[in-house]
Amino acid sequence: MRYYCPSCWKDYWDKDFEICPGCGYNIKAHNDKDYVDKLLNALNHRAGEVKHWVIMILEQRKEKRAIPYLEKLAEDTDDPSLAKAAKGNCKN
Ligand SMILES: [Zn+2]
Repeated sequence: MRYYCPSCWKDYWDKDFEICPGCGYNIKAHNDKDYVDKLLNALNHRAGEVKHWVIMILEQRKEKRAIPYLEKLAEDTDDPSLAKAAKGNCKN
């Protein structure tokens, strides 16, 4: 199992920290946040594969709240496949 700090995106293996050892972010408090907020936050992840995965989940959930975030991502990204995925979602 792989864990990410939702603040600095440092990744950890086999250990689920409550407080990120890298930046001091309270991961436990973060995990209590709304699931959609977490997904939207993950759109800022540096790894394109994570963004693709998040877009897919938002699409399945038909999250209207995600639309402005996806539009911005489609504009800002220099990854054409990511822009396509984000734009496709906005049409739903
Ligand atoms: Zn951190």
